[in-house]
Amino acid sequence: MLSEEQSEEFHVFPETRRRAETIQSRYTATKGKSPEVCLTSLPSLVLCKEVLAIRSVSKRLQFTLIHEDSSSGARQGEISASHGSFSTPVFMPVGTQGCVKTLSPDELREIGIKVILCNTYHLYLRPGCQIIEKMGGLHRFMNWNGVIITDSGGYQIFSISSLQRSEEKGVRFKSHLDGSNHFLTPEEILKIQLALGSDLIMVLDQCTPHPISHTQAEKALDRTLNWARVTRGSWVKDEKRGLFGIVQGSTFKDLRKRCVEELVEIGFDGYALGGLSVGESPTLRREIIEYTTQYLPVLRPRYLMGVGTPEELLDCISLGIDMFDCALPTRIARNGAVFTHRGQIIIKNAAYKQDSGPLDPDCGCYTCKNFSRAYLRHLLWAREILGMRLTTYHNLYFLARLMELSGEAIRDNSFKNFKREFMENYQRKWHAN
Ligand SMILES: [Zn+2]
Repeated sequence: MLSEEQSEEFHVFPETRRRAETIQSRYTATKGKSPEVCLTSLPSLVLCKEVLAIRSVSKRLQFTLIHEDSSSGARQGEISASHGSFSTPVFMPVGTQGCVKTLSPDELREIGIKVILCNTYHLYLRPGCQIIEKMGGLHRFMNWNGVIITDSGGYQIFSISSLQRSEEKGVRFKSHLDGSNHFLTPEEILKIQLALGSDLIMVLDQCTPHPISHTQAEKALDRTLNWARVTRGSWVKDEKRGLFGIVQGSTFKDLRKRCVEELVEIGFDGYALGGLSVGESPTLRREIIEYTTQYLPVLRPRYLMGVGTPEELLDCISLGIDMFDCALPTRIARNGAVFTHRGQIIIKNAAYKQDSGPLDPDCGCYTCKNFSRAYLRHLLWAREILGMRLTTYHNLYFLARLMELSGEAIRDNSFKNFKREFMENYQRKWHAN
């Protein structure tokens, strides 16, 4: 029996449909099902190299897979949500408290940012979703008319709040602000994100630390899958928003695979990879991302949470990830660490005391066009807010352009070369000149 997700109508290009029918006949799992179902449920392992361009039309969220790079696993697409469209791959800046620290919505738009991530946990505790709802929702409250994605708050509950406990029906925790007690079910977490007015919503998942035993990871996974089922069950059918499931399973491949299979069976608008960047080695993390991604449906966006350095972004794009968020680029900017085409530099260092050049001569942002390294260094040492604003502006502009150029390279089937050239430059230091 088809789930509601699978029975939705999809528009598929005629050529793609023919290919899907050919592929379908070779895999017993999809025999007797329509080509559309085959395209949305078969893992990318089977389909990714056989599908050229597919358009999926969902009632809630539209994801257009525009091109798959022939030189790597990278993909270029477009997501249309109720507050606009944006291209993938995309880096989404973090607006923890309902703002991207130090920047105005006008500045974000000027940089070219179309989607930001806000933290449910922080907004739920302060100012509270009732206030935000009364003020007309988060978009109006913060005057942001682009797309908003909200996390479930699970990660913050397990990392910031005290006395947190995961129970069968939900999570119990104490506020890090005033010590007040809270208990939230997955359905309530969905309701909070709906009340905020979020466009892309994440289901509650149980985050696990690293290392963890297989038994413990499996137990957490069962709970995550149960919460995913409950959340999907209380999802209002005609909502014009997207609901994302989160793949857990720690570093165990059998659990990751099982989690993807069961989440796809439940059916979501997109799939996120959770439980990574929690202490495992970069090599193991990459292995798990590569392994998991091959089982994710081709026609759904893939979102890797908590990754935001240029090197990691390019590497994960080459593995087929579409969406990223991370607080790191804005956090390090406020401390004076900036990305440049020749690696990250710490602008507060003495070497830049009398440097009249821009942060990055290859960057065309407002900061680089108008201010010297010496001036930015001075502002940061003097703890002037303008210094933090200008470095934050630059780092976000740098990543936005990096995503734009990645998209162009994917469409040219040259992402592998683009990544190699970028990394060769990125690993060269300025003083090498
Ligand atoms: Zn710049």
